[in-house]
Amino acid sequence: MTFHPASAPDYLPIPRMRELQLARLRGIVARAFERVPLFRQRMEERGLDPDCLSDLADLARLPFTTKSDLRDTYPFGLFASPMAEVVRLHASSGTTGKPIVVAYTHQDLEVWTSVMLRALAACGVTAGDVVQNAYGYGLFTGGLGAHYGAEALGATVIPISGGNTDRQINVMKDFGVTAICCTPSYFLHLVDRAGELGIDIRSLPLRAGIFGAEPWTDSMRRRIESEGGIRAFDIYGLTEIVGPGVGIECDCQDGLHLFEDHFYPEVIDPETGEVLPAGEEGELVLTTLSKQAMPLIRYRTRDITRLLTEPCPCGRTVRRMTRIARRSDDMLIIRGVNVFPSQIEAALLQVEGTLPHYQIILEREKGLDAMEVQVEVTPQVFSDEVRVLEGLHQRLVKALDHTLGLRVGVRLVAPRTLARSEGKAKRVVDRRES
Ligand code: ADP
Ligand code: ZN
Repeated sequence: MTFHPASAPDYLPIPRMRELQLARLRGIVARAFERVPLFRQRMEERGLDPDCLSDLADLARLPFTTKSDLRDTYPFGLFASPMAEVVRLHASSGTTGKPIVVAYTHQDLEVWTSVMLRALAACGVTAGDVVQNAYGYGLFTGGLGAHYGAEALGATVIPISGGNTDRQINVMKDFGVTAICCTPSYFLHLVDRAGELGIDIRSLPLRAGIFGAEPWTDSMRRRIESEGGIRAFDIYGLTEIVGPGVGIECDCQDGLHLFEDHFYPEVIDPETGEVLPAGEEGELVLTTLSKQAMPLIRYRTRDITRLLTEPCPCGRTVRRMTRIARRSDDMLIIRGVNVFPSQIEAALLQVEGTLPHYQIILEREKGLDAMEVQVEVTPQVFSDEVRVLEGLHQRLVKALDHTLGLRVGVRLVAPRTLARSEGKAKRVVDRRES
């Protein structure tokens, strides 16, 4: 794998990285204290000031920031730069409520570009690649984040944005695309549609996919890699912190390296707020160490992960986290049992004959929660005898029961009947009256 000079911070000796982090942390906390009234007030309520940080562990004494803080101060209440210095605004897709607005100075955009460059370099993208950027351009951070990173790397960027699937396929074929950025679910849709048009994506030069913005499992990765004839890398980020480019898988595909010289990670117990020892699973909390326009201190992401403690064979020293399988707020409680959509995905895709397209329907029947999992089956199975379908149905019910500890309804549906999304897939349809 070639080394890009911009990736140097990925390999800093750990003590040097900790020094750098502490120095940056002090600076950013001082900046937020001076310029963001909500943060100052919370610090003062606790009798804290920026001088309280003599060690990185002292970060645990500082107050958290949450998504509702961003909403309550909508639109510009957490900005730490005057508008004259703000050069870009983005807003989140608002999948979980009122949108939030984030700001960038020139320097913030440079940092964002550099982490996206490092992310793409880590999964083997080089100046020789032709990158199809099918993340949505616009207020959403996905499009421009990947765009600037790939361009800075020297790759050829195709800013096609999301949607218009047939055109995506033509462009991929005609322009000799070698790497694609989009959501994993949209990539599967592209593969399917290409099949309908008589194009086998495996026969094209495409060799890498950089997929993120939604949870996906290792079983999904295997399907994507074999159906697309590519290697599929997981990229993580969130609007509040920067957009895409907080973390990325390297060639080892075993956990996501975090660009911790800019985004300092902690993992906490979501119930108590206590910092957990390295290696324990909990909620990821991120502190932006260099953000000028909107520094966020101890931002609660609601994403559940754990930090890996072993060094990575790739030689990067920046820490890794396990892929985000779930969010603390996407848990479904069905007849008293806790269920996460990612568990359902993993169980379904273990069973041969299914397609990686599914949806979870929640209904209330006679006061009780009922869950039905709808999953597409392969055209071959679908045209088979009823007996074959029944056998598959039984295996799926069993697999789900085994994984969830719960018997749930399963409905096999024809290929291409469930709605596809150009961005984040909508896995759960809740028809219960609230
Ligand atoms: P929202 O969807 O909340 O409006 P964003 O578009 O900024 O905001 O999405 C950020 C969220 O998307 C993350 O907090 C995380 O839950 C999810 N996400 C992003 N990348 C990944 C990934 N690679 N794996 C799992 N979840 C991801
Ligand atoms: Zn690595």
